[in-house]
Amino acid sequence: MGPPGAGKGTQAKAIADRLQIPAISTGDIFRENVREETELGLEAKRYMDAGDYVPDELTNAMVRDRLAETPSGFLLDGYPRTVAQVAELDSMVEEAGNRIDAVLVLTVDIDEVVERLRKRAIAEGRSDDTEEVIRHRQDVYAQQTAPLIEVYDERGLLVRVDGMGGVADVTSRIFDALDATNGAAAS
Ligand code: ADP
Repeated sequence: MGPPGAGKGTQAKAIADRLQIPAISTGDIFRENVREETELGLEAKRYMDAGDYVPDELTNAMVRDRLAETPSGFLLDGYPRTVAQVAELDSMVEEAGNRIDAVLVLTVDIDEVVERLRKRAIAEGRSDDTEEVIRHRQDVYAQQTAPLIEVYDERGLLVRVDGMGGVADVTSRIFDALDATNGAAAS
Protein backbone atom coordinates (compact mmCIF):
# COMPACT_ATOMS: atom_id res chain seq x y z
CA MET A 1 0.00 0.00 0.00
CA GLY A 2 0.93 3.64 -0.39
CA PRO A 3 -0.40 6.72 -2.14
CA PRO A 4 -0.22 7.10 -5.93
CA GLY A 5 3.39 7.80 -6.89
CA ALA A 6 4.86 6.12 -3.81
CA GLY A 7 6.72 3.62 -5.98
CA LYS A 8 4.55 0.59 -5.33
CA GLY A 9 4.89 -0.83 -8.84
CA THR A 10 8.68 -0.59 -8.88
CA GLN A 11 9.07 -2.14 -5.47
CA ALA A 12 6.44 -4.80 -6.16
CA LYS A 13 8.57 -6.12 -9.03
CA ALA A 14 11.67 -6.29 -6.83
CA ILE A 15 9.82 -8.16 -4.08
CA ALA A 16 8.17 -10.54 -6.53
CA ASP A 17 11.56 -11.35 -8.11
CA ARG A 18 13.06 -12.09 -4.76
CA LEU A 19 10.19 -14.24 -3.52
CA GLN A 20 9.62 -15.86 -6.92
CA ILE A 21 5.93 -15.06 -6.95
CA PRO A 22 3.82 -13.08 -9.40
CA ALA A 23 3.23 -9.37 -8.73
CA ILE A 24 -0.39 -8.71 -9.54
CA SER A 25 -1.03 -5.03 -10.23
CA THR A 26 -4.67 -4.06 -10.64
CA GLY A 27 -3.55 -0.79 -12.27
CA ASP A 28 -1.50 -2.73 -14.86
CA ILE A 29 -4.35 -5.13 -15.58
CA PHE A 30 -6.76 -2.23 -16.06
CA ARG A 31 -4.31 -0.42 -18.35
CA GLU A 32 -3.79 -3.58 -20.38
CA ASN A 33 -7.56 -3.89 -20.80
CA VAL A 34 -7.79 -0.23 -21.83
CA ARG A 35 -5.08 -0.79 -24.45
CA GLU A 36 -6.80 -3.86 -25.80
CA GLU A 37 -10.17 -2.09 -25.70
CA THR A 38 -11.90 -4.93 -23.89
CA GLU A 39 -15.29 -4.42 -22.31
CA LEU A 40 -13.65 -4.17 -18.89
CA GLY A 41 -11.14 -1.66 -20.26
CA LEU A 42 -13.78 0.59 -21.77
CA GLU A 43 -15.72 0.56 -18.51
CA ALA A 44 -12.65 1.14 -16.33
CA LYS A 45 -11.22 3.94 -18.46
CA ARG A 46 -13.69 6.62 -17.52
CA TYR A 47 -13.01 6.11 -13.84
CA MET A 48 -9.25 5.99 -14.30
CA ASP A 49 -9.16 9.14 -16.41
CA ALA A 50 -11.03 11.00 -13.69
CA GLY A 51 -8.64 9.69 -11.02
CA ASP A 52 -11.46 7.71 -9.38
CA TYR A 53 -11.47 4.08 -8.33
CA VAL A 54 -13.00 1.53 -10.64
CA PRO A 55 -16.16 0.13 -8.96
CA ASP A 56 -15.55 -2.69 -6.47
CA GLU A 57 -17.62 -5.30 -8.33
CA LEU A 58 -15.49 -4.96 -11.47
CA THR A 59 -12.23 -4.87 -9.56
CA ASN A 60 -13.07 -7.77 -7.27
CA ALA A 61 -14.14 -10.03 -10.12
CA MET A 62 -10.94 -9.28 -11.97
CA VAL A 63 -8.73 -10.05 -8.97
CA ARG A 64 -10.68 -13.21 -8.21
CA ASP A 65 -9.99 -14.52 -11.72
CA ARG A 66 -6.33 -13.66 -11.50
CA LEU A 67 -5.79 -15.18 -8.06
CA ALA A 68 -7.35 -18.44 -9.19
CA GLU A 69 -4.25 -18.86 -11.38
CA THR A 70 -1.72 -18.43 -8.59
CA PRO A 71 -1.72 -21.48 -6.34
CA SER A 72 1.61 -20.85 -4.64
CA GLY A 73 1.72 -17.29 -3.48
CA PHE A 74 1.32 -13.80 -4.87
CA LEU A 75 1.99 -10.16 -4.24
CA LEU A 76 -0.87 -7.73 -4.74
CA ASP A 77 -0.04 -4.21 -5.86
CA GLY A 78 -2.90 -1.72 -5.67
CA TYR A 79 -5.43 -4.09 -4.12
CA PRO A 80 -7.31 -3.90 -1.81
CA ARG A 81 -8.02 -0.18 -1.89
CA THR A 82 -11.43 -0.04 -0.24
CA VAL A 83 -13.03 -1.57 2.83
CA ALA A 84 -15.27 -3.68 0.57
CA GLN A 85 -12.22 -5.01 -1.25
CA VAL A 86 -10.64 -6.06 2.05
CA ALA A 87 -13.68 -8.22 2.82
CA GLU A 88 -13.63 -9.67 -0.67
CA LEU A 89 -9.93 -10.47 -0.50
CA ASP A 90 -10.46 -12.14 2.88
CA SER A 91 -13.01 -14.47 1.35
CA MET A 92 -10.86 -15.24 -1.69
CA VAL A 93 -7.89 -16.08 0.51
CA GLU A 94 -9.98 -18.17 2.87
CA GLU A 95 -11.66 -20.13 0.09
CA ALA A 96 -8.25 -20.96 -1.33
CA GLY A 97 -6.99 -22.09 2.08
CA ASN A 98 -4.37 -19.38 1.87
CA ARG A 99 -3.35 -16.51 4.15
CA ILE A 100 -1.96 -13.00 3.93
CA ASP A 101 1.56 -12.91 5.36
CA ALA A 102 2.15 -9.18 5.40
CA VAL A 103 0.75 -5.84 4.32
CA LEU A 104 3.50 -3.48 3.31
CA VAL A 105 2.96 0.28 3.43
CA LEU A 106 5.33 2.73 1.78
CA THR A 107 5.24 5.99 3.69
CA VAL A 108 6.01 9.09 1.64
CA ASP A 109 5.76 12.86 1.72
CA ILE A 110 2.63 13.76 -0.26
CA ASP A 111 3.90 17.11 -1.54
CA GLU A 112 7.08 15.51 -2.87
CA VAL A 113 5.13 12.72 -4.50
CA VAL A 114 2.74 15.13 -6.21
CA GLU A 115 5.70 17.11 -7.51
CA ARG A 116 7.30 13.89 -8.81
CA LEU A 117 4.09 12.86 -10.60
CA ARG A 118 3.63 16.34 -12.07
CA LYS A 119 7.15 16.28 -13.54
CA ARG A 120 6.61 12.78 -14.91
CA ALA A 121 3.34 13.82 -16.54
CA ILE A 122 5.09 16.73 -18.27
CA ALA A 123 8.11 14.62 -19.29
CA GLU A 124 5.92 11.86 -20.72
CA GLY A 125 3.49 14.28 -22.31
CA ARG A 126 0.60 12.88 -20.32
CA SER A 127 -1.49 16.01 -20.58
CA ASP A 128 -4.50 14.23 -19.09
CA ASP A 129 -2.52 13.77 -15.88
CA THR A 130 -3.09 17.31 -14.71
CA GLU A 131 -2.14 18.51 -11.25
CA GLU A 132 -5.84 18.52 -10.46
CA VAL A 133 -6.27 14.82 -11.30
CA ILE A 134 -3.04 13.98 -9.46
CA ARG A 135 -4.31 15.81 -6.36
CA HIS A 136 -7.69 14.12 -6.70
CA ARG A 137 -6.03 10.68 -6.72
CA GLN A 138 -4.25 11.58 -3.50
CA ASP A 139 -7.55 12.65 -1.93
CA VAL A 140 -9.26 9.43 -2.99
CA TYR A 141 -6.39 7.47 -1.45
CA ALA A 142 -6.60 9.43 1.79
CA GLN A 143 -10.36 8.93 2.04
CA GLN A 144 -10.85 5.38 0.80
CA THR A 145 -7.55 3.54 1.19
CA ALA A 146 -5.61 5.08 4.08
CA PRO A 147 -8.20 3.73 6.58
CA LEU A 148 -7.20 0.19 5.53
CA ILE A 149 -3.82 0.71 7.19
CA GLU A 150 -5.54 0.69 10.57
CA VAL A 151 -7.46 -2.48 9.69
CA TYR A 152 -4.32 -4.42 8.85
CA ASP A 153 -2.41 -2.89 11.73
CA GLU A 154 -5.01 -4.30 14.11
CA ARG A 155 -4.49 -7.71 12.54
CA GLY A 156 -0.77 -7.44 13.21
CA LEU A 157 0.08 -7.68 9.51
CA LEU A 158 1.32 -4.18 8.87
CA VAL A 159 4.92 -3.53 7.85
CA ARG A 160 5.72 0.19 7.45
CA VAL A 161 8.69 1.20 5.33
CA ASP A 162 10.04 4.67 4.56
CA GLY A 163 9.47 5.07 0.82
CA MET A 164 11.50 8.25 0.33
CA GLY A 165 14.95 8.22 -1.27
CA GLY A 166 16.52 6.11 -4.00
CA VAL A 167 14.82 3.03 -5.43
CA ALA A 168 17.58 0.64 -4.30
CA ASP A 169 17.60 2.09 -0.79
CA VAL A 170 13.87 1.60 -0.47
CA THR A 171 14.16 -1.95 -1.82
CA SER A 172 16.76 -2.92 0.76
CA ARG A 173 14.68 -1.35 3.54
CA ILE A 174 11.73 -3.45 2.36
CA PHE A 175 13.75 -6.67 2.29
CA ASP A 176 15.08 -5.99 5.79
CA ALA A 177 11.59 -5.25 7.08
CA LEU A 178 10.09 -8.35 5.48
CA ASP A 179 12.91 -10.55 6.79
CA ALA A 180 12.15 -9.26 10.27
CA THR A 181 8.46 -10.17 10.05
CA ASN A 182 6.93 -13.52 10.73
CA GLY A 183 8.21 -15.76 7.98
CA ALA A 184 6.86 -13.53 5.24
CA ALA A 185 9.96 -13.13 3.11
CA ALA A 186 12.01 -15.89 4.66
CA SER A 187 9.72 -18.78 3.86
P1 ADP B 1 -1.87 4.92 -9.01
O1 ADP B 1 -0.81 4.32 -8.14
O2 ADP B 1 -1.43 6.18 -9.70
O3 ADP B 1 -3.18 5.04 -8.33
P2 ADP B 1 -2.34 2.40 -10.42
O4 ADP B 1 -1.55 2.02 -11.60
O5 ADP B 1 -2.13 1.61 -9.20
O6 ADP B 1 -2.03 3.95 -10.23
O7 ADP B 1 -3.90 2.39 -10.77
C1 ADP B 1 -4.40 3.14 -11.84
C2 ADP B 1 -5.90 3.29 -11.73
O8 ADP B 1 -6.54 2.01 -11.80
C3 ADP B 1 -6.40 3.90 -10.41
O9 ADP B 1 -6.37 5.28 -10.40
C4 ADP B 1 -7.85 3.33 -10.38
O10 ADP B 1 -8.70 4.05 -11.22
C5 ADP B 1 -7.68 1.95 -10.96
N1 ADP B 1 -7.45 0.96 -9.87
C6 ADP B 1 -6.31 0.26 -9.61
N2 ADP B 1 -6.47 -0.56 -8.57
C7 ADP B 1 -7.75 -0.40 -8.13
C8 ADP B 1 -8.53 -0.96 -7.07
N3 ADP B 1 -8.02 -1.88 -6.22
N4 ADP B 1 -9.82 -0.56 -6.94
C9 ADP B 1 -10.34 0.34 -7.78
N5 ADP B 1 -9.67 0.92 -8.78
C10 ADP B 1 -8.38 0.56 -8.97
